[in-house]
Amino acid sequence: MSTFQDFKIKKQLVNALQDLGIDKPTPIQEQAYSPILAGRDFVGIAQTGTGKTFAYLLPILQELKYSEQPQPRVLILVPTRELVIQTVQEIEKLTPYINVRVEGVYGGTNINTQKKAVAKGLDIIVGTPQRLYDLALTNVLRLHSIKKLIIDEVDIMLDFGYKTQLRNIFSYLPKKRQNILLSATMTTYVDELIDGFLTNPLRVTISISGTPLDTISQEAYAVPNFYTKANLLNHLLQDTEKYQKVLIFVRSRANADRLYETLDFQQEASVIHSNKTQNHRSHSIENFVDGRSRILIATDVISRGIDIDKIDTVVSFDVPFYPENYIHRIGRTGRAKQQGRSMLLFTEKERPLKEAIEALMNYQIPLTDFPEEVKKSSQLIPEETDKPVVQEDGPSHMVNDSDIVIGASFHEKSAKNSKVNAKRKSYADQMKEKFKKPIRRGDKIQNLRAKRKKK
Ligand code: AMP
Repeated sequence: MSTFQDFKIKKQLVNALQDLGIDKPTPIQEQAYSPILAGRDFVGIAQTGTGKTFAYLLPILQELKYSEQPQPRVLILVPTRELVIQTVQEIEKLTPYINVRVEGVYGGTNINTQKKAVAKGLDIIVGTPQRLYDLALTNVLRLHSIKKLIIDEVDIMLDFGYKTQLRNIFSYLPKKRQNILLSATMTTYVDELIDGFLTNPLRVTISISGTPLDTISQEAYAVPNFYTKANLLNHLLQDTEKYQKVLIFVRSRANADRLYETLDFQQEASVIHSNKTQNHRSHSIENFVDGRSRILIATDVISRGIDIDKIDTVVSFDVPFYPENYIHRIGRTGRAKQQGRSMLLFTEKERPLKEAIEALMNYQIPLTDFPEEVKKSSQLIPEETDKPVVQEDGPSHMVNDSDIVIGASFHEKSAKNSKVNAKRKSYADQMKEKFKKPIRRGDKIQNLRAKRKKK
């Protein structure tokens, strides 16, 4: 374990950390500091609470020189107004002894006040994508001096449907810059973004700090298909003593709704995913927290950020495409030294994904026999007929493959860079190669592009 002294950070930062009572870097801070300081593109898969904000702020502030130039050199994009405020506060915490001009901008407030603040001159600007883009359009905010772009909570950002705004902002930024991405979960969309505009990034995954894997008992059921999985759940969840607070993860919005429809316990269950209104989501979560509903069905992205205590069981109704997401899922139970339970339901098609998780954990999930009394269904959902396994909890406006517009993806690399990237395989592609997975949405785009090129 290193200390901040090992980083050789400047005295002003050491003093600020001392004032905060912080003396040891967290794992992500340890792993991010040198590469970010060296100017490398960086992807951190880390949740709130891991120290991810200081992980990128420390090397950036270490390097940021005093300047009177009006245009900002560092751009931090975050999905919500709350996170803008929080990030600005974190910067202020680190800079009582450094002269840094920082401003947070977000929608729902007077843009003219923000224009004035920007016009005074800035070093770092923190903002939500839409407001930031609106300011860039006014020409008061000029982005051609941005040397470092940080996008925090990328998964939420894409889930909110900010893809277009991000692309618009990218078009204002200089091509030569450092990119730093932080995301709690991996999704196809995050992968696509990384692939589309980062150059050979260093990827660091930090599991939820202190995930008490040893306080979670894990089991797996081999189940032939969706409806048989639903039958199994309907059977198990009859035991209200054993299953008092159950969080069920599903891969897609369609499956979330489908499962809810099939559940015998609709009165005791709620569903949340990105197509539900904010009101509906808040209501569902409240019900689950208060114990009014015993069961919550959720997609990966949407469930994060919500802090719910005393979940006794996490069900992975399907196997997440990205193994890290399984760790995030099961980290929702077994908290505060309570014993938690994780149940993974997998079909034959999903077996390689389960094996990837086991490889990541270095642990083989014990198999439980499928109960004889549970009926096996022969009915298949459309995805089980000829479609491959896909991960999809993407932005609401991209509901199915046919919504993908070729050329509207995150692509701004020069031909030279694309060559480099042709050699470098994305994580998803590596997975696909390793597990012989069929084509996913991202691959589909690649294939269509390749076809177009041939023509
Ligand atoms: P974050 O994961 O960035 O949301 O940070 C969560 C909290 O941890 C913030 O309040 C930070 O001030 C705090 N924090 C950041 N780095 C450290 C550290 N090395 N030691 C203790 N606390 C930290």
